[in-house]
Amino acid sequence: MGKVALVTGGAGFLGSHLSDALLRRGWDVIAVDNLSTGSRKNIAHLADERRFRLVEHDICKPFDFGPVDYVFNFASPASPPGYLVLGIETLDVGSQGTRNALEYAQKYDAGFLHASTSECYGDPLVHPQREDYWGHVNPVGPRSVYDEAKRFSEALTMAYHRYRSVRTHLVRIFNTYGPRLHPRDGRVISNLMAQALRGQPMTIYGDGTQTRSFCYVDDLIDGILRLSESDEAMPVNIGNPVEFTINECAEVVREITGSNSEIVYQPVPQDDPQQRQPDITRAKQLLGWEPKVNLREGLTRSLDYFKAAIKTA
Ligand code: NAD
Ligand code: UDP
Repeated sequence: MGKVALVTGGAGFLGSHLSDALLRRGWDVIAVDNLSTGSRKNIAHLADERRFRLVEHDICKPFDFGPVDYVFNFASPASPPGYLVLGIETLDVGSQGTRNALEYAQKYDAGFLHASTSECYGDPLVHPQREDYWGHVNPVGPRSVYDEAKRFSEALTMAYHRYRSVRTHLVRIFNTYGPRLHPRDGRVISNLMAQALRGQPMTIYGDGTQTRSFCYVDDLIDGILRLSESDEAMPVNIGNPVEFTINECAEVVREITGSNSEIVYQPVPQDDPQQRQPDITRAKQLLGWEPKVNLREGLTRSLDYFKAAIKTA
């Protein structure tokens, strides 16, 4: 019998790539998704795949789809504009949703991996961010619906590890991009790529000196699968440590798209982290993992997707 994985958020950007990777490894995949920020388009290529099925369901409500070997918990709005609109839903999925997913893993003695985030570090005062940094999060600001939900999910996951002996893993994902990132989801790479390809002004929030470190999706999924096979329960950063200012990022997008769109500066959102860069020492040591795809190459690999996606988005 092949192994079975449950992927919550399986119709999302990352969940769909993870499902593809699991299928390639011979797993059966049950994707459960309420399609709030994800799309059937992300899994349309799996329509004839008998080892894959999508169940449309909100994981905040109880569920049981039978025995599985592994639960990958990826359900949550993820882009800042997305979770700012769906604030209560984001808190719900990061609390009750994660709890239901953990109960499910416990019931079937399955492994469990939770998609956590660099946002657990908030607007960090320590740079680069190591996993033992507790972060600098505004617990009542607009981003708190996401940040605190994710931090609570981490606490829940550790509690199921400690009190219920569930084999859990926590990946802290740093900004990841690639094909299937929705061109209107409001994240910086999707916004800039879509604007550049449409010949529209490219929006930079603030003065563009804030930094992010961008990871190509294939590298991220490779790291996540390695973590899922490890014995490590404490959080592990997975991200590309090469740091760009947003101004530099916009220049790379203009170069890759061949666009001469102008840049327009707009107000910076409240509590927007000023700098972000993963320290990946633990991922290297524990998992033998490091990213292979740099930003230019990753954007080049994503170009055809964005060209097609902007026509229908
Ligand atoms: P996404 O919005 O494309 O995917 C999230 C999926 O979860 C969507 O398909 C959505 O419909 C689904 N979902 C949301 N609430 C749900 C619920 N209550 N029940 C069932 N399904 C629900 O975003 P993504 O970028 O693929 O992010 C996936 C996960 O990775 C999220 O948990 C996110 O917080 C985390 N993450 C992503 C990044 C990144 O750079 N992409 C960075 C850090 C963390
Ligand atoms: N950003 C920007 N222009 C955009 C979208 C985002 O300058 O059109 C900035 C945003 O203010 C932040 C960075 O790019 O400083 C990354 O934003 P994103 O929404 O992708 O994710 P975050 O890392 O903030 O969660």
